[in-house]
Amino acid sequence: MECRYCGAQVVHSFLDLGFAPPSNAFLKASDLSKPELYYPLKIKVCNVCWLVQTEDYAEASELFSDDYAYFSGISSSWLRHAADYVKKIIAQLRLNKDSFVIEVASNDGYLLKNFVAEGIPCLGIEPTASTAVAARRLRVPVLQEFFGKDVASQLFKNGQQADLIIGNNVYAHVPDINDFTHGLKIALKPGGTITLEFPHLMQLIENTQFDTVYHEHFSYLSLNTVTKIFNSAGLRVWNVEELSTHGGSLRVFGCHKDDSRSTTAAVENLLAHEIERGLQVISTYTSFQTKANQIKDDLLDFLIQQKRKGKIVAAYGAAAKGNTLLNFAGVKPDLVSCVYDQAESKQGKFTPGSHIPIMAPDNISNSRIDYLLILPWNITSEVKEQNTTLAKSGVKFVTAIPCLQIHK
Ligand SMILES: [Zn+2]
Repeated sequence: MECRYCGAQVVHSFLDLGFAPPSNAFLKASDLSKPELYYPLKIKVCNVCWLVQTEDYAEASELFSDDYAYFSGISSSWLRHAADYVKKIIAQLRLNKDSFVIEVASNDGYLLKNFVAEGIPCLGIEPTASTAVAARRLRVPVLQEFFGKDVASQLFKNGQQADLIIGNNVYAHVPDINDFTHGLKIALKPGGTITLEFPHLMQLIENTQFDTVYHEHFSYLSLNTVTKIFNSAGLRVWNVEELSTHGGSLRVFGCHKDDSRSTTAAVENLLAHEIERGLQVISTYTSFQTKANQIKDDLLDFLIQQKRKGKIVAAYGAAAKGNTLLNFAGVKPDLVSCVYDQAESKQGKFTPGSHIPIMAPDNISNSRIDYLLILPWNITSEVKEQNTTLAKSGVKFVTAIPCLQIHK
């Protein structure tokens, strides 16, 4: 295959998770007797530009259906993260009622509602119908489209260039990263700012976060590669921040290439750090599979042991990363009895592939479980705080990544 950014032949395998259904394709009870679509989940790395990318991908329209069950507005820590960001960026860029803000993949409007509250004009661009409807209820204007060059040119023709373009957890999800980045260039006002947040490939590798791999996630990004992609589109990364969200993310700040802002030392420092950590050495990538296999074996070993002892293990959080782990390990309801999840859109449904029933967390205290496997390990402390009575009753919390851990 050809690299999606630089076009070089991509030959090196990074991770092979076999076949899996789309991680957000939750099933109704009536679907359980029907065939289920599985797609290959194989990740490769380009040894020219170091873009880590999925080998095959399903049509985006299939993966982001109208039933798309992910509403980012659900997690309270993520809502706080969004509100803090908005406060900071309004002050930093001195945004006001004459400014214009675009958010790509605005989801249910959880972030843009903070700009609406401040009277700053904004527009969300969101392809999924159900989330777009939810955003409009919050009085967040939404254009229901996939963002790229075409949509950006349309906005440009309407005189809608932005002072700030935000893309949180979307950059790694776009099939055509060059088209998307050129779109950012077109939609950005002269002197404007882009901020993109995405999980940092360096953290994925160092903490063996192989469960963050799923079909909807087309690229796994380092600062080095993003800097190159921006340059090719006439943009420049002028600043970067390391965030703790999603197990370690980057927030890159972009501007037009010829912008008067100079590039900060943080960019140079992190680029050097990535090289130190081996991100430009092929063995760093080709040795990853063995580590992922070890985590799978340890989890299965734990689950089988508990089953033999007559103990009950339930899971918390039917997030995409949980589905990757459950499917890679081949876990079924005999090993994990149910998954508790706060999202009403998932409750009463079943996890894709593993067919584990999803229930409202209100039911946890009534159920007789011995272990709670927290699938979205990035919100472990939040889940523990919300379930202190469960811990008091003797239930133990477990996480599988970066290694199997039974929490005290
Ligand atoms: Zn490449």
